Amino acid sequence: MSDVLTRFLSQKLAEVKEKGLYSPIDVLDGANGPLISIDGKEKINLASNNYLGFATHPAVIQAANDATTIYGAGAGAVRTINGTLAIHEELEQRLARFKWTEAAIAFQSGFNCNMGAISAVMTKNDAILSDELNHASIIDGCRLSRAEIIRVKHSDMADLAQKAKQAVESGRYDKIMYITDGVFSMDGDVANLPEIVEIAEKYQLIVYVDDAHGSGVMGQGAGTVKHFGLQASVDFQMGTLSKAIGVVGGYVAGSRQLISWLKSQSRPFLFSTSLTPGAAGAVIKAIDLMETDPGIVTALWDNAAYFKEKLIAAGYDIGVSETPITPVILGDEKLTQTFAAKLIAEGVYVKPIVFPTVPLGAGRVRNMPTAVHTKQMLDEAVSIYKKVGRDMGII
Ligand SMILES: *Cc1c(COP(=O)(O)O)cnc(C)c1O
Repeated sequence: MSDVLTRFLSQKLAEVKEKGLYSPIDVLDGANGPLISIDGKEKINLASNNYLGFATHPAVIQAANDATTIYGAGAGAVRTINGTLAIHEELEQRLARFKWTEAAIAFQSGFNCNMGAISAVMTKNDAILSDELNHASIIDGCRLSRAEIIRVKHSDMADLAQKAKQAVESGRYDKIMYITDGVFSMDGDVANLPEIVEIAEKYQLIVYVDDAHGSGVMGQGAGTVKHFGLQASVDFQMGTLSKAIGVVGGYVAGSRQLISWLKSQSRPFLFSTSLTPGAAGAVIKAIDLMETDPGIVTALWDNAAYFKEKLIAAGYDIGVSETPITPVILGDEKLTQTFAAKLIAEGVYVKPIVFPTVPLGAGRVRNMPTAVHTKQMLDEAVSIYKKVGRDMGII
């Protein structure tokens, strides 16, 4: 191995370990369902993004198997060579219908969708106004486009309006985009889409909403844009198939013209092999299930409300979440790490989230109740929260 590389790695690994930014990775013995097993010990799982339980739903698994049997384990090529199978077309039509748009394009992940879609449209002659709490994949997609990135204070509509005005008046940009998460994953708050759309209309902004945590959750499952009835005013409805949909993949839903452009220009679509047929089949089934049984999304919200109420009654600060994302805010980084470790040892699997993912002094343990947790599992989790909180003098 190169000495230069060895020196670099030794130094950098020591640095991140010293800062407490290097965590060992837990390995699950089996599936990522409401209960998980780690090192042979069963735990109540409050760390996944599997909001609706589709990752382990028997009909979704069956659909993956069926599609694999018909179309094979892999797609065999990138979409534009001959890796577009009938099931990919079916998936995109299904996504467009799901999002109430003319068309949709599927990618291999939400992350590469943001990388590919933003950079296919925005150029170095453009500006992107970006909420400061946007997801890493949005930040990377914006950087890749080489557009000027203008950070906007989190959900601060006055700041957005002022920066949009400045950008327009500067006359320096061909196009200006505003990009935001639909639901912010660390606090569970929802973007103010009605005001965003109003400001966008005034300043002719392109609107891009990343609804990774909104799809399958808000708007009876159709997402935050549908929740506010703004399908006609949001240009890019981006989402992931890995969270509430429970499988893997990303997509943009929008006008036929936009999707045609992305299909001819976005680099992960042109140069990376398409989604596996099994993933495409599983996603179609998950969306079907969600749309035909509204009880699944309702169960998610019921469980979240139940769990939140009990945590508040126990004396915890759960922040400003408007969605099932339930942070338990502790503040101090060390305290947050110790608290999470004790919860895990007692049987509740949660993730501590600390600086730099959230601001310094805003450490929290994030809980993701799902539609498939039973009330008994949630009760058990709350009783462990109470025990650990009392032992540590937090509540
Ligand atoms: C998780 C997430 C992504 C990435 O999605 P993957 O399909 O997991 O790659 C993109 N944007 C946001 C806001 C996310 O939360």
